[in-house]
Amino acid sequence: MPELPEVETIARGLHARVKGERIERAWFGSKPESFLTPAADMAALLPGRRIDRVSRVGKHIVFDLSEAEAKHTSEATALSLQWIVHLGMTGRLLVAESGLKMPAHAHAVLGLSSGRELRFVDARRFGRLALRKPEQGWFRGPGAEPLGISQDAFRALFAGRRTPIKSALLNQKLLHGVGNIYADESLFRAGIRPRRMAGRLSRAELDRLRQALGSVLEEAIHLGGSSVSDYVNADGARGFFQLEHRVYRRTGEPCLVCGTPVRRILLGGRGTHFCPRCQS
Ligand SMILES: [Zn+2]
Repeated sequence: MPELPEVETIARGLHARVKGERIERAWFGSKPESFLTPAADMAALLPGRRIDRVSRVGKHIVFDLSEAEAKHTSEATALSLQWIVHLGMTGRLLVAESGLKMPAHAHAVLGLSSGRELRFVDARRFGRLALRKPEQGWFRGPGAEPLGISQDAFRALFAGRRTPIKSALLNQKLLHGVGNIYADESLFRAGIRPRRMAGRLSRAELDRLRQALGSVLEEAIHLGGSSVSDYVNADGARGFFQLEHRVYRRTGEPCLVCGTPVRRILLGGRGTHFCPRCQS
């Protein structure tokens, strides 16, 4: 499952490659479970739109589309439709020359004005495709964005919460897109035990946590940015392993700060790693 930094990197890579392209045609496979919006609706509504922006919202990749009467990319038009892709476990979005052999498990293909194709490939079919129309309101995701959230907004998320801070970090209704690795790593960097009750953390602790979470995610995005080249994918996650895990999956190994063996517990069913000495 791609985590937030991977999805951010994929969205940036796609933005660089397909921004300004007009969608000429759209094909969807016959496996209906991949689509939250009926394939016929997507096939009818996508052609003729221009891709103005590709961005990440939580773990979703969002294509902002405008009406594209004009072929010139410089002309400003209003956002008219959003195409939303969730990669699920194995989903990939590939930008390919249209003559290239279609990979197995391609479920959607958008033909672009440059002659290239945007292909959605997903072996296990946990990925999801949907359209968002203006009357539904633009897609913002269920919770707050962990990058760029203000100190006050971050504190307010956890006020009065009687759940462990680790579980609160993973709660997608509070913050969207924070996965297990980044929760453990940011709690370590902030010096906070995963089991601490979220609502009992001091302002200073929450401020440290916000900073730690932001820098862990930025670091991973920075490392990932160089690992995804002309092949836009979700399993290029290998590059992200360059992020130095200080506690995540280092059970029993010495803490990089104090040498105490890293401990693993189960919290809300998730493996949780921490240093019993550095985190209090
Ligand atoms: Zn330690």
